[in-house]
This record gives sequence, structure tokens and C-alpha cells, in this order.
Amino acid sequence: MTNVPIWKLNNGIEIPSLGFGVFKVKEGDEVFRSVLEALEAGYRLIDTAAIYGNEEGVGRAIKASGLKREEIFLTTKLWNTDQGYDSVFEAFETSLKKLDTDYVDLYLIHWPGKDKFVESYKALEKLYSDKKVRAIGVCNFHIHHLEELMAETEIVPAMNQIELHPLMNQRDILDFCKDKGIQVEAWGPLMQGKGDLEAELFVSLGNKYGKSPAQIILRWHHQNGVLAIPKSVTPSRIKENIDIFDFELTEEDMKKIDAHNENRRLSADPDTFMNGFE
Ligand code: NDP
Repeated sequence: MTNVPIWKLNNGIEIPSLGFGVFKVKEGDEVFRSVLEALEAGYRLIDTAAIYGNEEGVGRAIKASGLKREEIFLTTKLWNTDQGYDSVFEAFETSLKKLDTDYVDLYLIHWPGKDKFVESYKALEKLYSDKKVRAIGVCNFHIHHLEELMAETEIVPAMNQIELHPLMNQRDILDFCKDKGIQVEAWGPLMQGKGDLEAELFVSLGNKYGKSPAQIILRWHHQNGVLAIPKSVTPSRIKENIDIFDFELTEEDMKKIDAHNENRRLSADPDTFMNGFE
């Protein structure tokens, strides 16, 4: 059973409004156990990537869950060194094989890099028209990347997955994406363990609503229309992070969390992050 509300992407397909991320979750037993735990807790969206090196374990957990493949929304990503029109197809097939499935729900370009994201995206468009993926999109795209992409390609991305949390609320990109019908997904939604979850604001709001700081932040994402994909390998936290659909933050409390913004990036800047690009 799942109690996660369903949203719709710009091509009409349904997507759970909260997901489970597996960055830095080890291939093998750790990812298998965590994904299984997440599916049992009610998550129906799993976010992995070729570079995470754990697609096989994700695929095994999905099979072991007893759920039908179509009950799960599966995302994976094209790594930087596989950018380029022809190389996308090989990378995609490798991911499919590891995930032990014949389609993915959402295929994303992992980072923009320098000069190959347009041709790479054209290959994603082909995968989409061949019905091998149900939706396509990007990660870590600034507004200028999105504008360039949309000027040169046909399909408006269904998703832009970006670093987004209370220390960096990405208001500009969020407004731009809302205007264009691009769903924003938050990576590092809980500040990757690098921010202060125990800050006075989150603790006091937690006390007010009878929730944990993490639940307050995840609820803030949800009410902002942002799809969060928190990661945890801790069973109690996996359950805690999905238990956010029985309360609502007031507008005033939403604004307090908005005001926590410092435009503070905790990870790489997409304009300068070239790791994995030649
Ligand atoms: P998160 O913000 O999800 O933070 C994960 C950290 O928070 C872990 O250390 C986890 O610890 C801890 N944590 C989880 N739940 C709680 C809780 N309830 N209370 C206290 N601590 C908690 O960071 P991620 O970087 O993992 O981002 C989420 C997902 O986004 C990734 O897993 C990945 O799928 C995606 N991502 C995408 C990127 C991209 O470039 N497209 C880049 C980075 C991430 P523990 O596991 O020990 O419980």
C-alpha cells in the first residue's frame, strides 16, 4: 500500500510525488535491503543512475518486492562520459540490462557539461518516441541550459532534477520550470547530511506539528510542488521520510522556511562541474 499522492508530468503520465534516492548506497546487500525497505514502506519511485553503480541491486529489489513493474516509477540517468547521440543508446541498454527491465519510466541527462547535451537529448527523444522510456528530462540544468536545450529540441523536458533544500531554494529555476511545465525534483532535499537539520527553525516547527525536522522539510518541498527524493539506508528514517501526508504547514510557516534560504550550494555548480567530461 502507498499513501503518496500522485502528480502528473507534462506528457500526462503519473508520478508519485515523493521518491527514494540511492546515491552512495552500496551495490549488493545495502541497496537491495534499502530499496526493498522503501517499497515496503510505500515508496513507488526509485531514483538511481548509471554512475551510482547500484542498478543491479535496484533491479533485484524491485523483482523481490512482489510488486508489478508498472506499479513502480523507475528513474535512471545518463552519465557524462556517455553523452553524444550514438553513445546514449549503448548506455541506455546497459542500464536496462542491469536494472533487469525493458523500459524505464524516466531517463535523465545527469549533468549538462559543455557542448553535448543537445545531441544527447535528441537521442533521449528517440528513446521516447520508440517507447523505451515513458518520460525524458535533465538534471542540474540552469535556466540558460534549459533555454538552449528547448530552442534546439522538440520535447520539453518532463523533469529538471536539481540541488534544492532550505539553504538553496532555487526560486528562479523553480518559477521558470513551473512556467514551462517542467516538474522540479529536489536532490539533496535533506541537505545531504551537510546542513543543520537540528536548526532551531526545524526543531520548533517539528514540535509544533509533532513531526521531525526532516519531515517538516520534506513537507515544505511537497507543498512547494517540488518532488523530493530523500535517501536513507536507515529503516526508521526510510519510514519517517514518507510519513508526511497527514499534516499541512501553514502559509506563514512555509514562508519561514523560504526565508531560511542562503543561496548556499552544498555540492557542485553545474556551470563548472565537468567531472567525467573529456
Ligand atoms: P539527502 O538530502 O537525501 O540526504 C541523505 C542523508 O540524510 C544521508 O546521510 C541520510 O543518512 C540522511 N537522512 C535521511 N533521512 C534522514 C532523517 N529522517 N533524519 C536525519 N537524517 C536523515 O541527499 P542525497 O544526496 O542522497 O539526495 C537524494 C537523492 O537525490 C540521491 O540519493 C540521488 O538519488 C539524487 N541525487 C541526484 C543528483 C544529481 O546530480 N542528479 C546528485 C545527488 C543526489 P542515512 O542514509 O545514514 O540514514
